[in-house]
Amino acid sequence: MTASRVLVLNSGSSSVKYQLLDMRDNSRLAAGLVERIGERTSRLKHTPLAAGGEAREWNGPIADHDAALKAVAEELAKDGLGLDSPELAAIGHRVVHGGQTFTRPTVIDDAVLAEIERLIPVAPLHNPANLTGIRTARALRPDLPQIAVFDTAFHTTMPESAARYAIDVETADAHRIRRYGFHGTSHAYVSRATAELLGKAPEEVNVIVLHLGNGASASAVRGGVCVDTSMGLTPLEGLVMGTRSGDTDPAVIFHLARVGNMSIDEIDTLLNKKSGLIGLCGDNDMREIRRRIDEGDARAELAFDIYIHRLKKYIGAYCAVLGRVDAVAFTAGVGENSAEVRAAAVAGLETLGLAVDDALNAVRGDEPRLISPPDARVAVAVVPTDEELEIATQTYALVERTN
Ligand code: AMP
Repeated sequence: MTASRVLVLNSGSSSVKYQLLDMRDNSRLAAGLVERIGERTSRLKHTPLAAGGEAREWNGPIADHDAALKAVAEELAKDGLGLDSPELAAIGHRVVHGGQTFTRPTVIDDAVLAEIERLIPVAPLHNPANLTGIRTARALRPDLPQIAVFDTAFHTTMPESAARYAIDVETADAHRIRRYGFHGTSHAYVSRATAELLGKAPEEVNVIVLHLGNGASASAVRGGVCVDTSMGLTPLEGLVMGTRSGDTDPAVIFHLARVGNMSIDEIDTLLNKKSGLIGLCGDNDMREIRRRIDEGDARAELAFDIYIHRLKKYIGAYCAVLGRVDAVAFTAGVGENSAEVRAAAVAGLETLGLAVDDALNAVRGDEPRLISPPDARVAVAVVPTDEELEIATQTYALVERTN
């Protein structure tokens, strides 16, 4: 039997998320999460999906990523899915920042590791953790192909006009300052799935993808190729997010430093962790914000209005960038679940050909679906994202090509 399983690893600074997929039918064999690595209260939650089994939970200290991955391997082995299985074809790693170097999934070798390391200054929060996960997995299975799938890769097609900030070119280049964009695997997956929903090839359609989760980003995709996205050098730019401000006047930072006497680290924390919805109203969960609005809470309502105002501006901007828009696709936690956000985001945009049908918008489900009226000029869709499947698909395709 040829090896058909792919393990997808998403290593954060203190967590590892994983899924084991069988690429013959894209089925999920197991999924899980190790949290609070390095603390006394670490937790491993493992769900053996193939066996239809109950989730198993383990609580206790897990010292580092090495111990975490070994614990995951043990859990997988209990269901006959161990990492030593000949059916495991590869491990696919989510890597947040691939800079301008990595435009596609890449087989990891020492040179690739060195380049991901070189990119740490532009991704100080994410790439070190991703590297730790890769090194640990390589030590465990040195013979197995390990593939890096980059969050930035889908956006490397952006033209210079969209990718560059209007700041001094020499300074920008010296520090690799440009707009990279993130959530690329999601934007790639959802733009393709939207074309499929319309019964068209990706090359035939122009799509605006709205990835609205706790982190949020929009992208303009022309014929399957990304031409603009709302996140920039870091995931801080663009839409209002759960805890990130998105776009602000950069002079806010000078002002906080000079007048507010805040340090750069304090401002970093403010804009990344204490802003967005949580900064505006104290909650970052859209369900809670809607519940408060229903109770007449003015602060929650203002936070919602600011969130929607920004979203609308990006929809309008990307209509202008694309010229012709065939579809707008909502995805991720908020985009897939909040009918209120979807309705508010396109309200009043009829002149752009955008509208939702209230009955269709209210339908819940896990499948891609249209929510625009049947005669709409632009299709509005809900397209659940699946970043793990996209990473596994890209990983497996590369392994098959190189075999
Ligand atoms: P994600 O980052 O894609 O996992 O999205 C997480 C966010 O989705 C949460 O913080 C909530 O704001 C939002 N969310 C999840 N479920 C719902 C729901 N049923 N209705 C509205 N928002 C939701």
